[in-house]
Amino acid sequence: MKKPTVAFFDFTCCEGCQLEVSNLEDKLIDLLKLVDIVMFREVMSEKSDTYDIAFVEGSISREIDIPRLEGIRKKAKILVALGSCAAIGGINCIKNFKDLEDVKKIVYGKDAGHFNTILAQPIDAVVKVEHYLYGCPMIKEEFVDLVTSLISGKKPVVPNYPVCVECKIQENICMFHKGVYCLGPITRAGCKAICTTYGNSCEGCRGLTDDVNINSQTDIMKEHGLSLDEALSKFKLYGGYLR
Ligand code: SF4
Ligand code: SF4
Ligand code: SF4
Repeated sequence: MKKPTVAFFDFTCCEGCQLEVSNLEDKLIDLLKLVDIVMFREVMSEKSDTYDIAFVEGSISREIDIPRLEGIRKKAKILVALGSCAAIGGINCIKNFKDLEDVKKIVYGKDAGHFNTILAQPIDAVVKVEHYLYGCPMIKEEFVDLVTSLISGKKPVVPNYPVCVECKIQENICMFHKGVYCLGPITRAGCKAICTTYGNSCEGCRGLTDDVNINSQTDIMKEHGLSLDEALSKFKLYGGYLR
């Protein structure tokens, strides 16, 4: 049986999520038994115009990105947002809080007039997306689970509960008890609360849970005198498109 073909594409991003795919090491050999990678600029020079599954990394931040993404969508049977830049807009959306002309001047100085920029947005603001891999960077295990699920016809598992759940499983002392703000109560889990486990607060890189306002973990914030609105207003590092 012919294996599905897979291609990787990048827009505005650091390409760290593709790097994570290339870092799969031992698992990559097993994945290559299931799919044929036909385009992956970070690791191979071959290119292809035909593919079944397109993994798209990065957010859309220039006019010229839009027709390119639409072209990828037309060719792919399944389109996956790879990492938070693609899935929720991610860190690039910091610029959305500023005047775009000022942003260009800050970045390009006297050459600012040569560059075009638009508000940064996730790829599903432009095209239909079938699956999402969240995180900055995305989680390697979730990538493997998604690929194997697509091949076997299973529905991939995407956590829709907050980071607090995983944080409690790790038996961490809550950052709020240390007087530090944390976005774990409203952020989608799946990272095993890696930041809070290593002593940092959650900055919300995996985006909001689907039903953030009925999420019982927001009680943690309420206990510390914080409202959901205040929490959402802090969701700026990765959630500039959502806010
Ligand atoms: S989600 Fe993070 S690691 Fe992935 S491409 Fe964007 S900035 Fe880089
Ligand atoms: S608020 Fe942050 S530190 Fe506290 S339990 Fe939730 S994720 Fe962990
Ligand atoms: S703890 Fe929060 S910021 Fe850290 S990886 Fe998980 S979702 Fe991202």
